[in-house]
Amino acid sequence: MEEIKCTCGHLLSNNSDQLPYGAWVIPDQQTEAGFETIIKVIDEVLESKRTGELVEGLQGHFQDFSSFEANPESLNVIQVLITKSADVGREMYECEACGRLLVENGDDFLIYQRESADQEKGILTAPS
Ligand SMILES: [Zn+2]
Repeated sequence: MEEIKCTCGHLLSNNSDQLPYGAWVIPDQQTEAGFETIIKVIDEVLESKRTGELVEGLQGHFQDFSSFEANPESLNVIQVLITKSADVGREMYECEACGRLLVENGDDFLIYQRESADQEKGILTAPS
């Protein structure tokens, strides 16, 4: 999905990383198991980089694995974190126009509205 339409009509793009209005929400019930999976995959990535050979089963953790098969050293931990975060958590966005929060729910998004227009927007923007 590359664009999400907010109730106000604003289109939010989600086709890149490090969006100032995007975040991952990890439910408490998935935190421990999710982090254990991520740590296991990071261990496999580091082992593959160390030996120059892909650890069996690592392929199942990436959608586009073909480039890594040709060059195992191109695997990196950041890719693991980004890829596996999608398995553990939900995408969330704040509409830049109206401040509503859009939370991934299966193939769709649930939309939550601020209680007051006076509330500051930018809750998902990293502190500077
Ligand atoms: Zn909006």
